[in-house]
Amino acid sequence: MFKKRLKYALYFYAQLRMKLVITLLIGLVGTVLEGLGLAMFLPLLGLTEGRGEINAEELGSLKFVVDGLENANIPLNLQNILLVIILFFLLKGAFKYIQGVYDAKVREDFIRDIRLKGLARLNEISFTSFISLDTGRIQNTLSNEITKLAQAFRSYLITVHGVIIVVVYVALAAVMNPKFVLLVILSAALSNWIYRFINKLTRHESEKLPQLSDTYHRLLTQYLYHYKYLKATASAHKYSQKLNSYISDMASGNKKIGVFGAIITATKEPLVILFISLAIAVEVLYFGSKISTIFLSLLFFYRSLTYLTSVQSNWNGFIANAGALEAVQTLIKQLGDHKDLENGRLKVGLSDKVKFNSLSFAYTHGERVLKDVKIEIPALQTIALVGASGSGKTTIANMVAGLFPAASSGLQVDGHDFQKMNRQSWQSRLGYITQEPVIFSDTIFNNVTFWDEQTSGNTDKFWHCLKMAAIDDFVQNLPDKAATMLGANGINLSGGQKQRVSIARELYKDVNILILDEATSALDSESEYAIQKNIDSLQGQVTMILIAHRLSTIKKADKVILLSHGEVVNTGTFDWLVQNEPSFSRMVELQAL
Ligand code: ADP
Repeated sequence: MFKKRLKYALYFYAQLRMKLVITLLIGLVGTVLEGLGLAMFLPLLGLTEGRGEINAEELGSLKFVVDGLENANIPLNLQNILLVIILFFLLKGAFKYIQGVYDAKVREDFIRDIRLKGLARLNEISFTSFISLDTGRIQNTLSNEITKLAQAFRSYLITVHGVIIVVVYVALAAVMNPKFVLLVILSAALSNWIYRFINKLTRHESEKLPQLSDTYHRLLTQYLYHYKYLKATASAHKYSQKLNSYISDMASGNKKIGVFGAIITATKEPLVILFISLAIAVEVLYFGSKISTIFLSLLFFYRSLTYLTSVQSNWNGFIANAGALEAVQTLIKQLGDHKDLENGRLKVGLSDKVKFNSLSFAYTHGERVLKDVKIEIPALQTIALVGASGSGKTTIANMVAGLFPAASSGLQVDGHDFQKMNRQSWQSRLGYITQEPVIFSDTIFNNVTFWDEQTSGNTDKFWHCLKMAAIDDFVQNLPDKAATMLGANGINLSGGQKQRVSIARELYKDVNILILDEATSALDSESEYAIQKNIDSLQGQVTMILIAHRLSTIKKADKVILLSHGEVVNTGTFDWLVQNEPSFSRMVELQAL
């Protein structure tokens, strides 16, 4: 229990350091001022009781305040005491305000930094690690769990401030009346014991929630992604039953947490009253004090107990979301452990060739999917990768795209070791048209230009690229033209149209090297022909790597590389391979049927 508390404290301290100390100090000063303000009620009571004089001794060690006023020659009459009380409370108000503003800043900075860190780490992980991670979990942790962490942190700060208030009141009471401290400590121990059990139950439920939520998110994402299939095959119902069970489990976990919260809220006041009654009884009946002399003790006692119970309910609020702290911390650490290979410094464009110098590759723990591959991709040439599904074509393209830098020893660009190169610089001149068209929920203009400014130069270039990708007519005929929204909340493009927008984006990028992985596979023959012509017209202007099942689309390639089970079987022009490579000529014959 204590270890866990220390762990939370160390976690927040590690994140915030001096900021945490400063906010706690501000809270401390505010509370001391409030305590002194309250202490001044005692002399006030002395006056109003008609004694007409101040019995400073009743204040115990706090009488220094009264002494101070006397030394400053300020007469201790009603007005002056009231003014001092007002002054203390004004100052306390000012400190409370500073604390509120500072806490908001600390809180928001903390959450912003965690969000930025999560995103930065996600940017930095290697692609191989990414494909092995659970995207539902990443999504859930970086959105929902971080929001819960924000709530947890808010409750944590309130709790710690509460603890300080309780400690200050206990200390004030101790200097006034040490007996009283014993009572507070006893009652604190008692209420702590009562709430400890409930907190344990809450934490237990809270720790189960992120896992449920991760799975729910993953299933939901897949549900949306495969909606068409699920709908068309009457599987949606069955699939959503799976989702329903997670929804129910999350609801029942949250309900339990709600019940525990309700118990704490409901028992708070009665417990305070019970303790206060006990305190009065002990002071008056046991110690024989007069009610008037325990007035201030009671005030401090009431204040500290109110805060103590508020500490308990806020701590419970913290515990209810503390599962998120673990979830976020673990994910960020895990992302940090999967960092990609350090980026090199060498900035090289492609002027000679990309060379695979006997390169082998295996996905994590798997068998080798590229075996001793030796190929050359000369600058400005068009290379086609051909082979059965699973033969390693996409893996080679991914390698060139710099997605597996850690495993790319043997890959060279213009004679330079790829691992020493600056990947961002290389990738910024690389276009990749994947089998799955990449469409963002934004306008067509932004989809193609990747949020470039709408200058006249950029607009002309945009339309030129649409033309090259054979989609300009379609866009011209839309009511909002280039400003038409795509994707979620926008128009739904056909598979072929999405592909053409993706092609236009890569053309806009001014690439040195263009990878087309089944780029025209979703197109009808006419569109394919139109784009093929445009792609052909790029031949000689950029280096191209084509992956295509339809062999008719690669006839004009400068070189065709035939792969089988991760090995290069043969290399040559299309015609040469038809003549000299029986397995290739068989593929061509089969497609001609
Ligand atoms: P192609 O593009 O020729 O169809 P790929 O390069 O996609 O082939 O795949 C080559 C081999 O690598 C296949 O056997 C495939 O199962 C395997 N593979 C592809 N992606 C992964 C992955 N993420 N994890 C493990 N194995 C993979």
